[in-house]
Formats: sequence, structure tokens, C-alpha cells
Amino acid sequence: MNQNFLHIYTLIISVFLVSCSTMKENSITIVENPYGSIKGGKEISSFSFKNRHGVEMEVINYGAIVTTLRVPDRKGKLADVVLGFDNIEQYVSDKSYFGAICGRVGNRIAEGNFNLGGKDYNLAKNDNGNHLHGGIKGFNKRVWDAEIIENDGSPGLKLFYLSKDGEEGYPGNLSISVIYSLTDQNELKIEYEATTDQLTVINPTHHGYFNLSGAGEGDILDHELWINADKFTPVRQGLIPTGELKNVRNTPMDFREATRIGKRINQEDKQLEIGLGYDHNWVLNDWDSSLRLAVTLYEPLSGRFMEVLTTEPGMQFYSGNFLDGSSKGKLGKQYHHRSALCLEADHFPDSVNQPSFPTVVLKPKDIYTQTTVYRFSTK
Ligand code: BGC
Repeated sequence: MNQNFLHIYTLIISVFLVSCSTMKENSITIVENPYGSIKGGKEISSFSFKNRHGVEMEVINYGAIVTTLRVPDRKGKLADVVLGFDNIEQYVSDKSYFGAICGRVGNRIAEGNFNLGGKDYNLAKNDNGNHLHGGIKGFNKRVWDAEIIENDGSPGLKLFYLSKDGEEGYPGNLSISVIYSLTDQNELKIEYEATTDQLTVINPTHHGYFNLSGAGEGDILDHELWINADKFTPVRQGLIPTGELKNVRNTPMDFREATRIGKRINQEDKQLEIGLGYDHNWVLNDWDSSLRLAVTLYEPLSGRFMEVLTTEPGMQFYSGNFLDGSSKGKLGKQYHHRSALCLEADHFPDSVNQPSFPTVVLKPKDIYTQTTVYRFSTK
């Protein structure tokens, strides 16, 4: 009798625990809605994520773009902290890569040229004679297949794109998938996987423009930035790395202690002059491909705090120097000079031409992976 009672009691407790954990797992919702259509009639969907804290994220399967990310300030008030647009037409004509996945190779390849496996390749040139963010029609301008999946016990959005042999000049058919998740720890998690049927290069990155006061709410000069990097890759004209890994000590690139972005951005400095501000790659300390904290960003008025974790060796910090208020963003807001910043986790620019940089070469049978996390909290 006692034994039976114990069994029933254990059963009830287990059912209760399982349903609690299922409740926890199911607290993330993803809802698909029509977003609009592009030339040729292809229908684009938006996917709205919500977590248990009311954080909201929206992703579209055009360009794998994160269009919205609403996170709380220290009083719990939500604001959309990423720049973007209200409709598909604007995303199609956008030249700033708002919220998109860039690739095959994000960042720059000098003159779009490289040699791989004894063959010379010449990629599309779309940036003053250089190749930038995958070329004229990179991943940010492609329609991705989308599927809501179960990922680590909660739903995620898996986006898939087949980049054909020769696209923008790249060799090999490359299959790439990107899984976007929103977690109950207020994280935007991005997991990449890619394979190829020929020797090729790959270096995708997420190109979100963040302003922790809210998109369109002033500039980012009072944001405080910390980067876990003792070195950066100095550039020559055209923002192509010289190949040197330079110590940040005594330069405006030193963010080893959290520092106001505006503190040194207008300082007389050759690198800042070439970049028109910050537009450089930092060499993350002790890279070992594990997921580690690389950057923190803090906005003192709202209290919003963002941590960036990545498996990548580099971080491009771009201070929105080319934003000029010309394009109208969400809710008709104008995005002025330095009104947002990008923190692009990836390999170093022009790696394919720099043998001393970590390689971006992908071989058939190998699997490319990257995980990058943008985690939000308040202080
Ligand atoms: C680059 C900038 C470029 C911008 C395009 C950034 O990743 O570093 O130089 O202008 O993307 O929006």
C-alpha cells in the first residue's frame, strides 16, 4: 500500500516536472506572416518571435534580415534597437546591409581577386574596386527557404540558401543554413552551417545596426564599448588590411577598458582617417573556436547592455560612418551619421589573400560552422 502510494506520488511529481519543463521550452513563440513580394512574384514571409520576457524579434526570409529587435531598458520599457525599414521594397533597394546576413565572404577582398587551388578567381567588385559583403547580389539580396524547427528544446527559424557555382565569381555550389533563435535569456542566437562541392571560401556575418537607445534615437557616441582584443588589423586606403596585427596600446583602438565611443572617434589618427571613424577588425584574444565573450556595449541612459559572444576570431566594429540620413527608416525615422553601429563577428578582412590570417577556405566534405550570440540585459 505504502509502496503503491510512493509510486503514484513519484508519477505525479514527474508529470508535474515534465509539464513545467515543457512549459518552459514552449515559452518561445514564432509566428509566420506574409511580408510582401519581390520582383518576379516571390512571396516573402516575416517570422515574429517572442520570449517569456516580452522580447520581440522579427526576421524575414529576404536576405535573412533581422528587421526588429525589441528589448527592455532598466525600467522594463521596450525599444527596437536595430535599424531597418517598414517594407520589402526598401530592403530590396537598401545599400547598407541593415540586419542582413552578408556572404559568401563578408567584409572586403582586395580587388576581388584571389588564387585558390592554383586557380585565379575574380569576384564582383562593388566597393571602390574591391569586393564587399559577397558582391553585387550577395546573401543579403537573396530569398532564403525558411522552416520553423525545434532547436535545443525551443523553436528556431532555419533559413537555407544554395549559392550556385560561379555566383558573384565564387567557385563551388555552397549550401548554407542559418538558424535564428530567441532565447529566454534575451539572446539572439545565430548558428551557421555550410558545405561545398568544390574548394571555396566562406566568411558570413550578421550585419545588424544597433542603437541601444532605440533605432533613430540619436547617435551612438555615448555608448560604452569593450572589446576583448589586444590587437587589430590596420588598413590601407580602401579598408584593406596591411597584414600587420597591431597592438591597440596608445591608440584610439584600445577598448580593453569600456570606453565611450565618442571619446576618441574624431582624434587625429591615420586609421580613423582612412575609416572615417571606426571601421576596423579587432583580433579577439585567445581565439580557440569556442563560444566566448568578445564585446560588451552599454548605453547609460536606458541601462541597456549587450554582450556579443562568438566562435569567430575577429570582430569588425563599424561606427555607422556612411549613414547620412538619406534613407528613411522604420516609422519614417532618419538614420543620421553614426546613429548606429555594427559588431560583425567573422574572420579578418581579405583573409584569402593573407596567409598569416586564420583561413576562410572551405573544402568539400568539411563543414563550416559559426555561432554568434547577441545577449541583452540592463545595468
Ligand atoms: C563595412 C563598411 C561598409 C558597411 C556597409 C561594414 O561592414 O565595414 O565599410 O560601408 O559595412 O554598410
